Amino acid sequence: MTTYKMMDEVVHYCTKCKLDLNHRIILVDDGVAKRVLCLTCRTDRIFRDRSRVAKSQGEKRPRRSLTAKGVAKKSDPEVEWRERLNETHTPPKAYSMDVILSLNDLVHHKLFGKGLVVGLIAPDKAQVFFPEGAKVLKCGPCPTPKK
Ligand SMILES: [Zn+2]
Repeated sequence: MTTYKMMDEVVHYCTKCKLDLNHRIILVDDGVAKRVLCLTCRTDRIFRDRSRVAKSQGEKRPRRSLTAKGVAKKSDPEVEWRERLNETHTPPKAYSMDVILSLNDLVHHKLFGKGLVVGLIAPDKAQVFFPEGAKVLKCGPCPTPKK
């Protein structure tokens, strides 16, 4: 392990000059450099031992393959609903205030056109996806979800 002495010169990143430059160690604690002074612009900053920082981060943060998978899987539900709306060819139920709907049912609304039931909100509302967007509509009593 490197031990540092006061007034030693080290190459350190200067946040002011935005360059790796020679710095002079101006504060040492137990052989560890704490502060360095840029010899170019004469500003001082906290000394960071890059090799040590990189190593400890590697130990603390193992790579997570799940993270990458989660990001890749991210998709807009509306895209999926739109696809399903276009692919499903069962005749839609005519929408009315008391129609009994279940998930993935197709409905036909006088104003909004053909829609896909994407969610049920007990006791009597349904979230329906129409080509122009999802809407919450009043409907008949929702079937209670079986568990
Ligand atoms: Zn500098």
